[in-house]
Amino acid sequence: MSGGIVDNSPVRTVVHRGLTIEGYSRAAVQTYWRIPELKIGFDFGAQPWSFMGTSTWFVSHTHLDHVAALPVYVARRRMMKMEPPTIYLPESTIEPVERILKLFTRLDRGRLPCQLLPARPGEEIELSREHVVTVSATRHTVPSLGFIVWDRRRKLKAEFQGLSGDQIRDLRLGGTDVTEEIRFPLLAYVGDSSPEGLDSCPAMYEARILITEITFIAPSHLKDKIHKYGHIHLDDIVERRDRFKNELIIASHFSTRYLDGRIRKLVERALPDLLGGRLKLWL
Ligand SMILES: [Zn+2]
Repeated sequence: MSGGIVDNSPVRTVVHRGLTIEGYSRAAVQTYWRIPELKIGFDFGAQPWSFMGTSTWFVSHTHLDHVAALPVYVARRRMMKMEPPTIYLPESTIEPVERILKLFTRLDRGRLPCQLLPARPGEEIELSREHVVTVSATRHTVPSLGFIVWDRRRKLKAEFQGLSGDQIRDLRLGGTDVTEEIRFPLLAYVGDSSPEGLDSCPAMYEARILITEITFIAPSHLKDKIHKYGHIHLDDIVERRDRFKNELIIASHFSTRYLDGRIRKLVERALPDLLGGRLKLWL
């Protein structure tokens, strides 16, 4: 699909335990992520041509650097004769986004077929038999959400574990539910948020992979002021260093005020072992 296409949107990639994380994120520039194995993406700051085949998306909030490419994405899928996508957004943003799509349809003379669905904190969204997404509130200057993808499977209940296959079969035939659901948080995503977005949802710290923003890192950029604007400072991560149980923490959405080299230097000064090598700077 990408053959011959010149794509101006940068994509970085990391693979961790069977999941490929693709994307890019700089504050005020653009943020977009995709996990092909889960068949989902997060945010539409831009839309790399290669991301078009993913049909389910979650929008953390509707600042332009996270949503501007939504109409482009919907139009491309229609042009390529793909199914209309499903896009989950903060509830209050659906009506204005629908209006924007209608206006673009007028300008472009092309329909923009898609399903826009509300994501509300506390809700669960079923992706497949194996995967479910939970929605949490984060804290930014506009309505904003965090998302966790859970792996779920059914396991024999503890009380039946000593039984033989025949006994279990008989129980099952008799209508007993012999299994229970076991969930494991595979991947967590915090778009733009103050540290509350992490703290108010403990599974963020437990997920195998955490993608989080760290917009500010310099000591001269003061934490309290940054929290007011709904962002995370490197000092917040240092304060919480013992809470992160994640195998991989992707730190992203750095302010454009910092050059890459300075980001590396300041982070390595504050966290010399990069949280045991688990903290990856998305530069
Ligand atoms: Zn942003």
